[in-house]
Amino acid sequence: MVNNSKGVEFIIHGIVQGVGFRPFIYRLAQEIGLTGTVSNSSKGVVVRIHCGPEQLDCFQTALTTQAPPLAKITSIEQRILDDYPPRQDFAIDVSESGPVSSALIPPDIAICRDCSRELTDPDDRRYLYPFINCTNCGPRFSIVETIPYDRPKTSMKQFPMCASCGAEYGDPADRRFHAQPNSCFACGPSLSYHDKKGVSAVAGDPIAATVQALNRGDVVAIRGLGGFHLAVDGTCETAVANLRARKSRPAKPLAIMMADINQLGEITEVNPLERELLTGPQHPIVLLPKPDSALLAGNLAPGISEIGVMLPYTPFHKLLFHHPDCPKILVMTSGNISGEPICTSNECAFDKLTGIADAFLLHNRDIVTRIDDSVARVIHNEVMLMRRARGYVPAPIILKDSLPPVLGCGGGLKSTFCLAKGHFAILSQHIGDLFNIESFEFYSESVDHLKKVLEIEPELVACDLHPDYLSSHFAQELGLPLYRVQHHHAHAVAVMTEHALTNQVLAVVLDGTGYGTDGTIWGGEFLLCDQAYFKRMGHLQPLPLPGGDAAASEPYRMALAALFATFGPDGLKKKNLPPSLSAIDPSRIQLIGEMLLHNFNCPMTSSCGRLFDGVAALLGVRQVISFEGQAAMGLEAIAQAALKNSPQSLSELLSSCDKDQAPVEKNEAIQIASHHFIGSVVEALHLGRPVQEIALHFHLQLINTITQHVHMFSRQTGVKDIVLSGGCMQNRLLLEGLFLSLKQKELKVYTGSEVPVNDGGISLGQVTIGGLQHVSSHSHAGY
Ligand code: ZN
Ligand code: ZN
Ligand code: FE
Repeated sequence: MVNNSKGVEFIIHGIVQGVGFRPFIYRLAQEIGLTGTVSNSSKGVVVRIHCGPEQLDCFQTALTTQAPPLAKITSIEQRILDDYPPRQDFAIDVSESGPVSSALIPPDIAICRDCSRELTDPDDRRYLYPFINCTNCGPRFSIVETIPYDRPKTSMKQFPMCASCGAEYGDPADRRFHAQPNSCFACGPSLSYHDKKGVSAVAGDPIAATVQALNRGDVVAIRGLGGFHLAVDGTCETAVANLRARKSRPAKPLAIMMADINQLGEITEVNPLERELLTGPQHPIVLLPKPDSALLAGNLAPGISEIGVMLPYTPFHKLLFHHPDCPKILVMTSGNISGEPICTSNECAFDKLTGIADAFLLHNRDIVTRIDDSVARVIHNEVMLMRRARGYVPAPIILKDSLPPVLGCGGGLKSTFCLAKGHFAILSQHIGDLFNIESFEFYSESVDHLKKVLEIEPELVACDLHPDYLSSHFAQELGLPLYRVQHHHAHAVAVMTEHALTNQVLAVVLDGTGYGTDGTIWGGEFLLCDQAYFKRMGHLQPLPLPGGDAAASEPYRMALAALFATFGPDGLKKKNLPPSLSAIDPSRIQLIGEMLLHNFNCPMTSSCGRLFDGVAALLGVRQVISFEGQAAMGLEAIAQAALKNSPQSLSELLSSCDKDQAPVEKNEAIQIASHHFIGSVVEALHLGRPVQEIALHFHLQLINTITQHVHMFSRQTGVKDIVLSGGCMQNRLLLEGLFLSLKQKELKVYTGSEVPVNDGGISLGQVTIGGLQHVSSHSHAGY
């Protein structure tokens, strides 16, 4: 031991437990030749070492540069230990472990490189074992029943480890040290193949039987990590059509899985960030520009410019593709009845998916917590999660401001909830639309489960202003101090919270539907806001919604409303209607005209989503939709096609038409004349311009108009941080255009990355807003 060696203690905070951090420290200590201990504590990972100055340097650098892939260090405390007696060795100290902070149950992680290698190595004892995993990969959140995260408290408890697995589990130098789901052929879960009646095939390889069924064009229900998928051969149009018909899912895009990044590379270009996402620990579905490949069945994502792709993330998915006869592309869509949560148990699958599936590939490891595939895309060189679930939940979002224990209940569509306490906020997995009893049960069970495993007992609750959302009723019945949060403020603050923006920002929230403080429906909003309060600076001029909610699923109603609002009753006369609306029954047009004229059942909305619907219908993209956002996605797709064919880049196009903006009407808040957009579209239609071009021009005009307004508000207020949020920001063209043009005005632009900009993110905004309002109204310190 060097003379000038001393005792040093590190307390490492962040996501450092259950992610292989202690074995990492152990191996690092062996490498550098340190003596001491590492242990888990409620504060984080505690390391005590004896070392010289050079060793200390080495250790400090390695801590931050070589940490395991799933670890996220938020801070490191370091202090000298004056009377730390030297040790002979370095040890993982289990005895010292206090209560581990349960906020740190890791998410489910895709199979790692080492396990993938062993899986296909004929000499490995786990060769072709469908449940291979290690400290760096495998199921986590989906198998946890209660805390602390330990095998007997997971659904692995029914599989006692064999001697070989037990030895790996107990060896600090092994990659499977304390890997809770560690198992092998001798002791772990297994797969089974069943026909459509549920009869199990006793002999034969379940993987081979599944591949055979897929090749026949059959629909196979596959039990996965967080729930069931329905799989079919994604190269076969008939098989896909069959799945669509049985699932009553006529048009909604279907996600696909391919063997690996090289196979994917053969049909489309993948940029480095997309590659990182596809192959990283989370393995989400990544939305990529839809390739022009003959391999893809034509009906996977009709009328949409993107397709969702994921790579195999469990060993048994890998084994399917490892089989030489497996189709090159598999559709992997959620195994549920439309509108209900995905099935997790074998019984549920037999009950609900019979009639859809021709066969079942099952396993016997219980899924404790249902969790869907996450969905992400790369826009403007940033990752954007559209659906936050597997791989991400329940990893915390680190908060700049400390919050009291609070529950945010979310909204109605794409629901999530959020629990926060101190400097951690945990966004729940995507629950789905809260419209039926099954989804609501999933929602309330998940709230209970997450409260338990995170040990957060909320002292207050925040919900949407909308009085009719099931989530608002749920919040009300908790009997806690209740904070009702305006929908678009929550959208904005979700982004602010993620980026730790604690000062005022200007937020542009372009959205479908959200309840406004004046009782009308908002959705095209310019807000000046901080994390607790907001002021509505401006908005899109409201349009009537003939028939209320019905207008959202029948975009032609919005087209008629827009024509009426722009040209008056004359706009609906047969001779003035654009050809795209000629197929609509004239008596319906007349009826809607009457409703508009007499302002009967026509609530007003400043929704940007509805404006997109109206334009989409005018251009003949869609008159009636079968899933939310379908018309807007179709409109974006044709605009993207025009952009692709244009010799000019997006930024050149934007500057060439930046004089063409919608005028402004001044009221309490500034209103952007939606009529102007409609007028331009109708005029271009009369001039016989191609619809693709008109769709692109509409996007450009909207981007420029928004930019000018933001710029004006920025000069008025001196605020230069701009937040973009709301469901419409999922439109790649709109978001990229806004980034380009706002940055040109030297504004700093933020949007949701790991927190969805759609309604999946608002529960995070709610906890921040509710939590901070609560703190300021009680203004007692201590949180
Ligand atoms: Zn592994
Ligand atoms: Zn074993
Ligand atoms: Fe919304």
